[in-house]
Amino acid sequence: MSTVTSPTPTAVVFDLGKVLLEFDYGIVARRLAAHSGRDAEQIRGLLDQSPLLFRFESGQMSNDEFFREVSALTGYTGALDEFANIFGDIFTAIHPMIDLHGQLRARGVPTFIFSNTNDLAVRHIRANFPFFAQFTDYIYSHEAGAMKPDPRIYEIVERRTGRKGAELLYLDDRKENVDAGHARGWRVVHHQTPEQTIAAVRAVGFL
Ligand SMILES: [Mg+2]
Repeated sequence: MSTVTSPTPTAVVFDLGKVLLEFDYGIVARRLAAHSGRDAEQIRGLLDQSPLLFRFESGQMSNDEFFREVSALTGYTGALDEFANIFGDIFTAIHPMIDLHGQLRARGVPTFIFSNTNDLAVRHIRANFPFFAQFTDYIYSHEAGAMKPDPRIYEIVERRTGRKGAELLYLDDRKENVDAGHARGWRVVHHQTPEQTIAAVRAVGFL
């Protein structure tokens, strides 16, 4: 009876930062400041103006290279172990979204993490947030060698999920990222509040 041909999404692609976990790089600046001759504001400014984080998250630097270059830039004098904690321990749970993910998994819906991130963050998150182990697969910028909204990393998502176009429902808080998904025909939600996003996921028929 129905003549609708547009596919229904069969998997959900989650951005990580500010969708599932809140984060604050101001914490990094304050902690680095405690082991350098500079104050937190100066360090924040140095990090904001530096391409180091972009290079790290696009897979152009190892953990050790990032550690050495940030130390040189900011005057940080601590060890790599502590540095790894400083950069990793900046996340807090967004519980309604983590609950949403759990409901999708309980219904057998494949779910994917799609994140501009780095190895220090991923290690910390894996060790501290049990929900994070429950995704079907993970697409990270530092492994892909490209950052959202670069189309190359969206192509990797399509390969890894085995899906394309409206078979994918994609949630991200950054407009340029959802726009790049929308341009490929993905169903998208520009995440602003858990309430709105949960309603949108429900409207698609997943819950
Ligand atoms: Mg985000």
